[in-house]
Amino acid sequence: MRVLVTGGAGYIGSISVEALLAAGHEPVVLDDLSTGHRTSVPPDVPFHRGTYGDQIAMAHLLEAQRIEAILHCAARSLVGESVREPSRYYRENVVGGVALLEAAREAGVGRIVFSSTAAVYGIPDETPIPEEAPLRPINPYGETKRTFESALAWYGSAYGLRSVSLRYFNAAGASDRNGEIHDPETHLIPAILAAAEGRAPLTVFGDDFDTPDGTPIRDYIHVEDLAGAHVLALEATAPGDVRTGPPAGGSVPLVCNLGNGRGASVKEVLHAAETVVGRPIPHVVGPRREGDPPILVAAADRASAVLGWRPELGDLETMIGSAWAWRRRNPDGYAA
Ligand code: UDP
Repeated sequence: MRVLVTGGAGYIGSISVEALLAAGHEPVVLDDLSTGHRTSVPPDVPFHRGTYGDQIAMAHLLEAQRIEAILHCAARSLVGESVREPSRYYRENVVGGVALLEAAREAGVGRIVFSSTAAVYGIPDETPIPEEAPLRPINPYGETKRTFESALAWYGSAYGLRSVSLRYFNAAGASDRNGEIHDPETHLIPAILAAAEGRAPLTVFGDDFDTPDGTPIRDYIHVEDLAGAHVLALEATAPGDVRTGPPAGGSVPLVCNLGNGRGASVKEVLHAAETVVGRPIPHVVGPRREGDPPILVAAADRASAVLGWRPELGDLETMIGSAWAWRRRNPDGYAA
C-alpha cells in the first residue's frame, strides 16, 4: 500500500515509516521539518517538504504519488504551548487537518489513520481509561485532537472516509535508527537521560500527588510497539474491512487507545533509568506542573482485540535502554 505519512520525519512518524517498510508497504513522507529531521527518513523513501494544510499542494501530491491511505502524524503537540498559543493549534491541527481531508476527498483517498492522544480524556473519572470515557480535554492540544477525531467521524458518515484514531499514551524509547530529541525537551524520559548526561538539570514536578509514591503515574509505551499498531490500523481501513465499516457499506470510525495498560510513576521511571545508566541521576523535586493529572493509564484491550496488536517491549528498562543506546550512538542528535 502507498501511504502518505505526514510528520514522517518526526519521532513517531519516522519510526512508523520504518514499520511500514518492514511490512512491505510504500511510505511517502511529507514533513515541513519544523520539528522533524530530514535524516530520520531513509534516503530511498520519497520525501516532500511542505505542510499538510496546503490543500492544493496536497491534492496534487496525493494524486501524483498514487497514495492509497494517509497516516496523519503531523501536528503541533506541546500542551503548554497550546495553552499560550491556541491560535496556532486551531490553525494547524484543525484548519490544516481539514484542508488535508478536503485534499483527500478531491484525490479520492478514502483511508486515514490519525495520531490522537490520551489528552482527549482530560482528567478521567476511572482508570484504566476505556475509549468510551467522556472526552473532556483540559488544554487546546487535547481539544484540537478531539475536534479532528469528530471531523473524521462526520466525514465517515457523509463521505465514506474510513478512519482509525489512535490515542497514544506516553510514547518512549527508540529504534536503531531514530529516537526522541526535542528542543525544548518537555518529556520525562529524555529529560532524565539529558540529566544523566549532565546536559540539563532535572526537576520532578511534584511528589505530593495521590499516588503510592506521590509522583504521577503514566502508561509508557515503546515507540516501536506504537509504530506496529499504525501498520495494523492502516490495514483495517481497507475497503470492505468490517472493522471500519459495516458490510452494507459506509464507514464507522475505529478509535483505539495505545498503551500497555500498566502505569509507572515518575520515581519508578527515574529508578529504572538509574539502573540503565548505572549511576544515580541528580534531580530536585519542584512544584507540580500545571494540568498534570495524577494517573493516566490506558485500557488497552480494544487495540489487541480489534487490531490484533501485541505490544512486546513494555518493560521500562527495555524502553529506557533503547532511548539511552540511541543517545549514546547519536550524542549530537540528528545531523540535520
Ligand atoms: N515530568 C517531570 N519532570 C520533567 C518532565 C516530566 O517530573 O522534566 C513528569 C510529568 O509531571 C508527568 C510525567 O513526568 O507526570 C510524564 O510527563 P511527560 O511530559 O513525559 O508526558 P505527559 O504525561 O505530560 O504527556
